[in-house]
Amino acid sequence: MRKLLIILGVPIDNLTMDEALNRIEEFIEIGRKTGKTHQIATVNADFAVKASHDPELRYLLQESDMATADGMPLVWGARLLGMPVPERVTGADMVPALAERAAKKGYTVYMLGAAPGIAVRAAEILTNRHPGLQVVGTVSPPYGSILEMDRAIIDDIKEKRPDILLVALGNPKQEKWIGMYGREVGSPVAIGIGGTLDFIAGQTKRAPEWMQKSGTEWIYRLFQEPKRMWKRYVNDLVGFSSFFTRQWLLMRQGGNQQPVLPKSDLIVFENKAIISLEGRIDFNNYTNVTQKGQLALQETPFLDFDLTNATFLDSSAMGALVALAKQARDGGGDLRLINVPPIIYRALKLLKLDRFFDIIAAGDNDKATESDTADQPKSEKTANKWLVVPIPKRFDATTSSEILELCSQKLGENPNMILDFAETKFLASAGLAIMAQLNRTAQDKNGAIRLANCSPDVTRVIEMVKFNTIFPMFSDIPAAMR
Ligand code: UDP
Repeated sequence: MRKLLIILGVPIDNLTMDEALNRIEEFIEIGRKTGKTHQIATVNADFAVKASHDPELRYLLQESDMATADGMPLVWGARLLGMPVPERVTGADMVPALAERAAKKGYTVYMLGAAPGIAVRAAEILTNRHPGLQVVGTVSPPYGSILEMDRAIIDDIKEKRPDILLVALGNPKQEKWIGMYGREVGSPVAIGIGGTLDFIAGQTKRAPEWMQKSGTEWIYRLFQEPKRMWKRYVNDLVGFSSFFTRQWLLMRQGGNQQPVLPKSDLIVFENKAIISLEGRIDFNNYTNVTQKGQLALQETPFLDFDLTNATFLDSSAMGALVALAKQARDGGGDLRLINVPPIIYRALKLLKLDRFFDIIAAGDNDKATESDTADQPKSEKTANKWLVVPIPKRFDATTSSEILELCSQKLGENPNMILDFAETKFLASAGLAIMAQLNRTAQDKNGAIRLANCSPDVTRVIEMVKFNTIFPMFSDIPAAMR
C-alpha cells in the first residue's frame, strides 16, 4: 500500500529509489495484462508551486500512480511535517537506473520530447551502457500546445506500445500530455522526466553529487542557464516557502493535542463501506486507517469516511485517504468524507483537497445519490433555442469520447448548445480539445456554444488556455439562455 504525504496539495510517495523501481516493475506487469497506463511524476518545488495555481496539474498529480520527491525542498518539507522521506528520487537518477532494469528484463522504452537529436543521442548512450536495451522510438515534437499534437506521434506510440514511455516535455506539459493521451497509447508506465534526456545526452551538465545531496543543485543550474532559471527560482522560493509555512503552522495546531489511537469502526452494507475515525490521526497511527480502508476495499470500491469524531488529520493521514481514494476510483467507486469538523476542513481546504474529495454532511442523502451517478453524462434539457447538456463530474480522457459522441449528435439537431458544468470538478486538456472540436462543429452550422456554472477551478483551466475568449461564460443556465 502507498505511503503518501501531502505537501502543498501534492501527494508525495514516501519511498527509496529502489522501492520506486520495484513498483515500476509491478506497474509494467499489471499494465501488460490490463492495458492500464500508470502515470508517474517526479515532483520538485516548481511543480508544487505550479500545481497550486493550475487545477489540472494539481488534479493529475493527486491522481498519479506515483509521485516521487525529486527536489530537496520536498524532502526537507516532509521531514518538517514529521514524515521522514528517506531520499530524493529524481527523474535524472531514475531513468538511467530504469534503463539498466529494462535491459535485464526486456522492457521496451520510448522517448518522447526534448530538442531534435537529443533523444536519439540519449538512446544511443543508454544502449551502449546497457546492451540489450530496446529503445523502440524517439520523437521530438515541435514546441507548442498539446491540444495541437500531431496524431502521427500518438499512432506511432500506440503501435509500438512501449512498456515504458518517457515524456520529456517539461512540466506541466508532460503531465498534461500523459493525462490526455496516456490511456489511448496504453503504455503500462508513462513518466514525466523533464530535462533528463538533456542530462543523459550531455546537453546540460548535472551538478556534482555533493550539491545534489545538499540541496544546492539549483545554484549550479542557475549558473548554467541564468536567464531562464532566475525567475523560476525566485517564484518557487516565494511560492513554496509561503504556502509551506501556512501548511506547517496549521499542522502544528493539531500538534498540541495528545495522539489518540484512532478507533476506526468498519461497517459494510449495500455495496458501501463506512469507516468511522476517532481522535487524532498522524504519522504514528495512520497505517490503521490504511489497513481498515484496504479491508473495506476488498468488499466494495465505495468508501465513506465518517469524521464526526476525528479531531485532526496530519499530512500523512490525508495522504492515506488520497491513496485509498485513488484505489477506490481505479476500482470504479469513490471515497467520500462525511461530517468533516471545521479544523480538518480548514486543512483540507488549504491543501486544496476539498475539491479532490466529495465532502458531504451527514444525512445529506440527496447529494450522495447525485454524486454516485455524476460520472455519466445525463440527458439534456431544451429551452428556447438552447440545448443544455450537463457535463459530468470529470471531463477528461476517461469521459471525453462519450461526451463528444453525445454532443456531436445533439449539435446535428440543434447547433446552439450550453455546456452545463455545475457537476464538474475536473476539466482537463482532453476535455478542452473536445470543446474546441464542438465549437468548430457548432460554428459550421451557424450555431454557438456557451458555458454555464463553471467552478473556480474549471474557470481557471479555461482561462489558462484563453478559451474564455472563444466561449461566452455565464453564471447559470437562465443567464446563458438570455
Ligand atoms: N521540451 C519539449 N517541448 C516543449 C517544452 C520542453 O520537448 O514544448 C523539452 C526541453 O527540450 C527539455 C525538456 O522538455 O528537454 C525539459 O524542459 P525544462 O528544462 O523546462 O524542464 P525541467 O526539467 O527544467 O522542468
